[in-house]
Amino acid sequence: MTEGNVDVLVVGGGIGGLANALALTQKGLKVRVLERAAQLGEVGAGMQLAPNCTRILDQWGLLDEAVSLGVLPERLVMKDAMEGGELTTLDLADLKERYGYPYLVIHRSDLHGALLRACRDAGVDLVTDTTVTDYEQVEDGAVAVHDGGREFAPAIIAADGLGSTARALFSDDEPVSSSYVAYRGAIPVEQVDQLNVSLKDVVVYVGPKRHFVQYPLRQGEMFNQVAVFESPKARAGEEDWGTPDELDAAFEGSCDSVQAGLPLMWRDRWWRMYDRNPIMNWVQGRLALTGDAAHAPLQYLAQGAVMAMEDAWVLAEHVGQRMGAEGPDWDGALAAYNAVRTEHCRRVVLTARDWGNLWHHTGVKRLWRNAVMRARDPKDYAFVDWLYGPTALTPELLAPMFDPANAPTVEVPESA
Ligand SMILES: Cc1cc2nc3c(=O)[nH]c(=O)nc-3n(C[C@H](O)[C@H](O)[C@H](O)COP(=O)(O)OP(=O)(O)OC[C@H]3O[C@@H](n4cnc5c(N)ncnc54)[C@H](O)[C@@H]3O)c2cc1C
Repeated sequence: MTEGNVDVLVVGGGIGGLANALALTQKGLKVRVLERAAQLGEVGAGMQLAPNCTRILDQWGLLDEAVSLGVLPERLVMKDAMEGGELTTLDLADLKERYGYPYLVIHRSDLHGALLRACRDAGVDLVTDTTVTDYEQVEDGAVAVHDGGREFAPAIIAADGLGSTARALFSDDEPVSSSYVAYRGAIPVEQVDQLNVSLKDVVVYVGPKRHFVQYPLRQGEMFNQVAVFESPKARAGEEDWGTPDELDAAFEGSCDSVQAGLPLMWRDRWWRMYDRNPIMNWVQGRLALTGDAAHAPLQYLAQGAVMAMEDAWVLAEHVGQRMGAEGPDWDGALAAYNAVRTEHCRRVVLTARDWGNLWHHTGVKRLWRNAVMRARDPKDYAFVDWLYGPTALTPELLAPMFDPANAPTVEVPESA
């Protein structure tokens, strides 16, 4: 057993794992990351980082680099996927004024790369090709059991994603399938030259059992698209869910702008959308869950990786506040982390499900949704204040949630 040579083991080297490693290293701890893949990296396309995340990137000294790698869009625009008309907007310059930090879109490999560089520079020990299969609680710490042996640390943070091995010690739940499937595509911007797209906005087309997202990446050199739809085969429990013929069928009848973007999606891979039911305890002894392992959401609020980075920041702040000559008071720090993050992430995971349902309404409900969105005052930020404001360190500081009763009242159409 490797003993006593690190303060913290982090299991998983995704965005959540690296964020925890960096934040704890910045508090003076020695951290080792154990990653099962042969190389540290990220697959996928763009991601949106709201001000509650860019505030934290700034504290870690990474905001300028992230901004230089990404794009600061001007607006977030919701449109109807069938008619193409605008439903509501968020002015992102105004948002920066309100929350003090920008709304950023970035290629996920660029964000992961920035975290990785920062971890390397800070001296994090990054170990690949190591799969953790079990954990043991021992006095004053925990042990990670992996294919290369057993490793002790005073604390272990499990950032091992949606299919987390560590989570099985906390709950016998499984990832929940939504039957929705995502196609992605990050392509050179020249490929959309002839299309009617905005290179300054994040545009989300919402429609019956489908949605379509577009935004620029890498200082406008790339263009990102995400097409999401309910797969009839996934819903029926069939194996060959989400094939390109299902993609094309699901988007039939969509407006011209959406139809024009579809052929540019990557058509050789697609992703099933899962989340996890909230669990209200993420800490056992000196083992803690973080990121998707703790709270995988559906992606509709664009807060999955953001929550992982918030987890990292909150835990590190509590560790920093409890640092003694012998190291941190881990039990106190982990309890404080558990007390606030489980509740915030419960709210986000459940609201993301509702938000997705709202996007995907059919028939009269879709018309009602459109009417509510059109009636919203574009300067009304009540529905994002609870998300985009400063990350709470204690339960008392959690912002009150948006109350749907405060949404605009509209005439409900009688038929679609
Ligand atoms: C279509 C889509 C769009 C999204 N858009 C956004 C967005 O705009 N904004 C946003 O904030 N979030 C977004 N998300 C969510 C975001 O991608 C995830 O929440 C985030 O990447 C989770 O990071 P993680 O590090 O917790 O988990 P992961 O990225 O899954 O990383 C887990 C790591 O642990 C490793 N691992 C697993 N098991 C073991 C083991 N036993 N031993 C060792 N290593 C192990 C894995 O190899 C992996 O490297 C989106 C998700 C999807 C699907």
